[in-house]
Amino acid sequence: MTDTVIVLFSRDLRVHDHPALAAACEHARHVVPLFVADPSVPGGDRRGFLAECLADLRESLRERGGELIVRRGDPIAETMRLARETGARAVHVSMDVSTLARRRQRRLAEECERARTAFHMFPGLTIVPPDALRPSGGGDHYRVFTPYWRAWARQLRREVLKAPGVVRVPDGVWAGRPPEPGRASHELFRGGETVGRRRMRQWLKHCVDDYADGHDDMAGNRTSRLSPYLRFGCVSPLELEALAREVGGVGEGEGGGAEEFVRQLCWRDFFYQVTRAFPRINRDDYRPRGHEWRDDDHAAQAWKEGMTGVPIVDAGMRQLLSEGWMHNRARMIVGSFLVRRLGVDWRVGADHFFDLLLDGDVANNYGNWQWVAGTGNDTRPNRPVNHIRQAKRYDPEGEYVRRHVPELGTVPTRMIHEPWRLPSGVPGYPAPLVAMD
Ligand code: FAD
Repeated sequence: MTDTVIVLFSRDLRVHDHPALAAACEHARHVVPLFVADPSVPGGDRRGFLAECLADLRESLRERGGELIVRRGDPIAETMRLARETGARAVHVSMDVSTLARRRQRRLAEECERARTAFHMFPGLTIVPPDALRPSGGGDHYRVFTPYWRAWARQLRREVLKAPGVVRVPDGVWAGRPPEPGRASHELFRGGETVGRRRMRQWLKHCVDDYADGHDDMAGNRTSRLSPYLRFGCVSPLELEALAREVGGVGEGEGGGAEEFVRQLCWRDFFYQVTRAFPRINRDDYRPRGHEWRDDDHAAQAWKEGMTGVPIVDAGMRQLLSEGWMHNRARMIVGSFLVRRLGVDWRVGADHFFDLLLDGDVANNYGNWQWVAGTGNDTRPNRPVNHIRQAKRYDPEGEYVRRHVPELGTVPTRMIHEPWRLPSGVPGYPAPLVAMD
């Protein structure tokens, strides 16, 4: 039995179905669950949520006789310092795909080798590991979703792991203080595994059946809102999928809410495997198509503030500002409005999303933005988008718009998506930035 193993937590802030933690608890006498707050990584608006996740994780570890050890500084230096202090023989991490995460994993592996400490990477961030599937026709990843979905659905899953019963931390290790929240997270989203698991169970029990019909209803609040919990790993995507299959009886091609929901989870895995193969997804066009973007700070700023004069766009952008989250249909509408109608570079929009979204992560944010901009994995990059038609279809009563753009509260429903048609306009609300007819 190895004496002591360090488990370095990052975007896997849970005790259930955590392969790196489970292996440490099974094979080592002592385990050091470690989180290093890295001041060089801007936490943005996610800091409050993260602080809640860490407090909850600490509580769960304490219930098992353990502790969450928290340090501040460079994660590699702090991990190696703690390895020396505790005489740890191994370091465990969950494998991640972004450039930053990979640089960290590489450096940690090198330092471990130098110190003769074992270094092990485990799955856990996705359902199917990002390096598990290769297209039969060649290439190191799937570029198109549908064939990926077919191969993904057939792929064998690892077992969903229970939370460890006991976590034995070596004596005498200073626990350290968790990072300050900065500001409390939005009350719609309290961070942590406990809240995440409760939300997961309630969603699967009461709502998932309705998902196929309801997920595009912008006012209806009929999606899971689990994305921040998946982003921080409070919920295991593998366990979520397994439970969804159980309640929905999902099999390939059977349809229904749970099937559609599992398909969305597959999109998440899809972008992880794209990012693993193309880590510069947040900077470079995945498929360069010679776009010439306009430099228009004024338009970009109006878009960010939810003041473009196009109600459905402004509603989405204001939901982002107030909740740190946005409905998927709204993300597609505001994204395509920025790049196609305003001609602004997708990176401007994607960076803004990344700063503000609680679920903002490299693979999903930049992968989706490139899809919207036509530089990514969409096989029909030039498909036409009519923003007003979309607004009328997915927010037919204008309820979503009224909720987020109160100035439009008294506009009649037939005009809610086109207030510029009102002869006198709407006091306090701008005319559209671009012609909308
Ligand atoms: P549900 O509809 O309940 O779906 C369940 C889960 O499936 C989600 O939590 C998510 O993990 C996954 N999922 C759903 N749709 C997608 C998708 N299109 N791509 C990848 N995974 C998906 N999602 C993020 O998690 N982080 C991001 O930074 C992000 N940025 C986006 C940017 C743009 C421009 C667009 C169009 C989409 C983006 N998405 C992102 C995808 C999607 O909008 C969100 O995952 C979803 O709205 C989260 O809400 P939910 O949990 O209620 O989703």
